[in-house]
Amino acid sequence: MRCAILGDIHANLQALEAVLADARECGCLEFHVLGDVVGYNAKPAECLRIVRDLPGACVLGNHDQASSNDSLLAGFSANATASIAWTRQQLSVEEKAWLAALRPQRQIRNTTLVHATLDSPLSWGYVRTNADAEMSLACQSTPVCFYGHTHVVKAFEKGAGEILLFKNEEEGIQLSPRQKLMINAGSVGQPRDGDPRAAYMIHDEESGGLWLRRVSYDVEAAAAAIRAAGLPERLATRLSKGE
Ligand code: ZN
Repeated sequence: MRCAILGDIHANLQALEAVLADARECGCLEFHVLGDVVGYNAKPAECLRIVRDLPGACVLGNHDQASSNDSLLAGFSANATASIAWTRQQLSVEEKAWLAALRPQRQIRNTTLVHATLDSPLSWGYVRTNADAEMSLACQSTPVCFYGHTHVVKAFEKGAGEILLFKNEEEGIQLSPRQKLMINAGSVGQPRDGDPRAAYMIHDEESGGLWLRRVSYDVEAAAAAIRAAGLPERLATRLSKGE
């Protein structure tokens, strides 16, 4: 089974559509979503409806959780808070119920999916350092766990710390079933590593093949939608810088 791993879509419809077209062209039959379907960008309901109908699994992200109810917003930046308040107005009761019912982690065959960390998935901590990764890897029972939340492609191996997965981003690599890896698949809708293209990964479960894909999309249209919605200007400008 060839699966697309989609992290942090964040209501960016143009990026999501471009990524899905690329993934289908590459033969992906399942689409696993690492949470934060909504937030920041201007097409939350549209993205939610697409994700809901995809064959595959979706886990809960912090923006999904916050957008699904009317709780007080704590721990979010001013721009995130503004976008979540706006997103709450865009989603139907039924769409919020779908978000609220997402589980924080899933295991699909031999692969784990989580938005933040496996040691405390609903605390929304970040896996940025070796210590963060070791805490999460200690709770990981499959060879590979894909995660999101930081919007930056990264990989950690149990006992070895951070590793460079792709020496050449254009080429795929072969994962060994003997490794225990925690892999951030990057962000579809708001990349933060200086490359504005939408990022996602393709995982071939049988062969152990893994590819990082960077897909160009209509950034200007996504930014225009943010401005038309009256969302903070910074959310539009950051897209073209990949930050
Ligand atoms: Zn996110």
